[in-house]
Amino acid sequence: MKDICVDENAIHAERHGINMKEANCIFCKIANGEIPSQTLYEDDIFRVILDLGPATKGHALILPKEHYANLYDLPEETAGEVMKLAKKMATEMTERLGCEGFNLVQNNGDLAGQTVFHFHMHLIPRYRADGQKIGWEPQEVSIEELQQVKEQICQG
Ligand code: 5GP
Ligand code: ZN
Repeated sequence: MKDICVDENAIHAERHGINMKEANCIFCKIANGEIPSQTLYEDDIFRVILDLGPATKGHALILPKEHYANLYDLPEETAGEVMKLAKKMATEMTERLGCEGFNLVQNNGDLAGQTVFHFHMHLIPRYRADGQKIGWEPQEVSIEELQQVKEQICQG
């Protein structure tokens, strides 16, 4: 019985170009048009949709149509294409929405705030009185600590 279910999932996944393991991923379904969304842009690789819980007016998400859980899994070439599309969308949206700033946000892992484990880039238009705060508390650090961190990252 279990095997039959797996096979059905595999057929479904193949038909929709979805990795079998991710047949239940909501962003796979949205990106591939199985679940409707407010789509701002679509090509063979990406769909850009409005976020259902927007930080500001126009908050959108770039979704690859292929399933990649996060930045680590994203092929280098696709990563480059994401940034090109982000620039294009930010430029267009700034003009159309009349926003005065723009944040690109991309979370990886639940500790970093990722809640949907299909890679996505947030496009967040910013307005003078939008009341949102995207940032962090700067920490005190010594030159020695910076040096140590640099060595840890760059060693080998
Ligand atoms: P994360 O926290 O993973 O970086 O961002 C997930 C984002 O996806 C959130 O901003 C959330 O509002 C949005 N989101 C979650 N489920 C849906 C959905 O079904 N449709 C749309 N359009 N956005 C969603
Ligand atoms: Zn997915």
